[in-house]
Amino acid sequence: MPWKVLLLVILFLCPTRMTLGTTDQAFPIFKIDTEKKVVAITFDDGPDPKYTPLLLETLNLEGVKATFFVLGNQAEKSPQILQWIHKAGHEIGNHGYSHPDIKKLKRPEVYQQIKRAEKVIVNTIGKRPQCYRPPGGVVTPAVLKATYDAGYELIHWSVDPKDWKRNRTAEVIASSIKNKIGSGDILLFHDGGVNQEESIKALVSLIHDMRKDGFEFVTVSELLEIK
Ligand SMILES: [Zn+2]
Repeated sequence: MPWKVLLLVILFLCPTRMTLGTTDQAFPIFKIDTEKKVVAITFDDGPDPKYTPLLLETLNLEGVKATFFVLGNQAEKSPQILQWIHKAGHEIGNHGYSHPDIKKLKRPEVYQQIKRAEKVIVNTIGKRPQCYRPPGGVVTPAVLKATYDAGYELIHWSVDPKDWKRNRTAEVIASSIKNKIGSGDILLFHDGGVNQEESIKALVSLIHDMRKDGFEFVTVSELLEIK
């Protein structure tokens, strides 16, 4: 096999990480290619003392497991809610410590953000997350390298209802993505920030519609296992 073909095969077989000599860096995952009707719902910026519990109740009623990309500083303020998320069987992802403007950070600073949040998470739930999502989904060379060095999968998203925008009603949030969701998608919501009540209402209607269409809901780690 010619070496170029071999290299392509290796890259194809290792979609989550590139491990080529000194260029070790994470590879952002937006969605996975699958024909199975599965989607991963994700929530950023929590835990939030008011909305995360509401959301957990909703997910419990709907029988849906999701992934929460939590902030270290929020988790420090609400450790019991972080434990609750974990005990309810959802996945905890790392969203860094303090949600800085990550474009301006150098690799060691991004690394420090990840590790500082990791410490809070490990101390609270006794388990290290597998997935990291940079604030704003911003991917720079520093982010790619720091994520790899910290030993995380770099998770982006493929469907964004922009639920963080002010004055977005549940109907607007739901209808903005209703026809855009497909197999293997990663959906972005927020349990910290604004609009959460509308987000939760939108989520319920989307879950019902997706179920009717035959979709199942999995965590990000479960999604990565599906091929
Ligand atoms: Zn965020």
